[in-house]
Amino acid sequence: MDHDFIIIGGGIAGISLAARLAPAGRVLVLEAEEHLAHHASGRSAALYEPNYGPPAVVALSKASEAEFRATPGILSPRGLLLVAGPGEEETFATDAAAMELALISPDEARQRVPILRPDRITLAGFSPSAEDIDTDLLLQHFAREARAGGADIRVRSRVEAIHRDGTGWRVTWAGNEARAGVLVNAAGAWVDEVAALAGLPRLGFTPLRRSMARIPAPAGMDVAGWPMVFGPDEAWYMKPDAGALIVSPAEEDPVDGPHDAWADDMVLAEGLARYEECVTEPVTRLLSNWAGLRTFSPDRQPVIGFDTGAEGFFWLAGQGGYGFQTCPAASRLAASLILGEAPALSADLVAALAPARLGGAKISP
Ligand SMILES: Cc1cc2nc3c(=O)[nH]c(=O)nc-3n(C[C@H](O)[C@H](O)[C@H](O)COP(=O)(O)OP(=O)(O)OC[C@H]3O[C@@H](n4cnc5c(N)ncnc54)[C@H](O)[C@@H]3O)c2cc1C
Repeated sequence: MDHDFIIIGGGIAGISLAARLAPAGRVLVLEAEEHLAHHASGRSAALYEPNYGPPAVVALSKASEAEFRATPGILSPRGLLLVAGPGEEETFATDAAAMELALISPDEARQRVPILRPDRITLAGFSPSAEDIDTDLLLQHFAREARAGGADIRVRSRVEAIHRDGTGWRVTWAGNEARAGVLVNAAGAWVDEVAALAGLPRLGFTPLRRSMARIPAPAGMDVAGWPMVFGPDEAWYMKPDAGALIVSPAEEDPVDGPHDAWADDMVLAEGLARYEECVTEPVTRLLSNWAGLRTFSPDRQPVIGFDTGAEGFFWLAGQGGYGFQTCPAASRLAASLILGEAPALSADLVAALAPARLGGAKISP
C-alpha cells in the first residue's frame, strides 16, 4: 500500500477527516474540482444551530460545540427568529418547541428585524444559540492541520475507477493510481456514484437542491445585528451576510442525479415572493444567486461507518443541511472508527449513524 487512507472528496467532510487521520498514517485526499469546497461546502448558509435537525444531527451538533469554541473566529453570535402569522399557529408551535425557542412578542421581533410586516407576522420565537460559522476559516483550519500532519491533498483529481486489490483498495484518476487499506467515501452528492464505481450497492442517497439569492440590505438599514429569520412553515429563510441579505426559498427539490447545481429562476422568484409577503421592503434586485445540493440518506440522518459488505470501505455521507455544524464531532467519530479506537459518543448514537441500519434500504447499482 502506498497510503493508509484514501479520502474521496475535498469538501468539509473529507478535509475535516483528513485532519484527524493525518497524524495516524499516510492520507491522500482526492478532489475532482479545481479547488476544495466547490460544491455543497462552498454554498451553505453557514449556520450553527445545535437544536436544528433530526436527533442524531442534534447530538453531533451539540458534541461539536466545544471544538468550535476552542478555535477563535469560527463562531460569531447571530440568533434565530422564527416567525408566523394567523392560521399558522400549529406548525409554529411544533417548530418553536423542537428548536427550543423562547416565545417573544411580535413587537420584540420587529425590534430585532424592523422590516417584519405587523399585519402578517403575529407569532415569533427566538433562540440566541444560533451562530454564524466562518466556513472558509473552518475548512482552511482543517486543511492546514491535515497538511501539517503530512496529508497529500490533490485537486483536479476525479476518481474514475476503484478496485478491490488484495487487502486494500486501488483507486485510479487522470492516469494516476494509489492504493490504501481504507477508502473513505466523502463525495457529498456523489457518494452513491463512488460506491457504484467500487462495485458496491448504493445506499439510496438523495441530493436535494436548495437555492439562495443575495439581495441588498434595505436602504439605510444596518442589518449586521439582525438574527437569521425562518419564515412561516420554513417556506423561506433570510440571513444577514456581509452587509447584504441572503434569502433562500428553502426548497428541497429532487434533481436528476448529482451535478454542479444552479438556482432555478422560478423557484427563486416564488421563494422571494413568499419572503416579500412577510416584510415591508420589496426585493428590487439580486446581487447574485446560487444553489447547492443537500444530500440525505433514506432516514435523513448522516451515515458514518464501515460498509457492512466491503472491508475497508468507509462512508462519511448524508450530511444533508448540517454538514458544517456537525463536522467536528462527525470527523472525530469517523476517525475513531477507522483507527479502531473507542468513540467518544454513545453506542446508541454510533448505531444510529452506522451504515448497517440502512440494510433494508439498499438499492442495486
Ligand atoms: C444552500 C445550502 C445551505 C446550507 N446551509 C447549511 C448550514 O447553514 N449549516 C450547515 O451545517 N450545513 C449547511 N448546508 C449543508 C452543508 O453545506 C453540507 O452538508 C456539507 O457541505 C457537505 O459536505 P461534503 O464534504 O459532504 O460535500 P461536498 O462539499 O459536496 O464535497 C464533496 C466533494 O466530493 C467531490 N467528488 C465527488 N465525486 C468525486 C470523485 N469521483 N473523485 C473526486 N472527488 C469527487 C466533489 O467534487 C465535492 O467537492 C447547506 C447546504 C446548502 C446546499
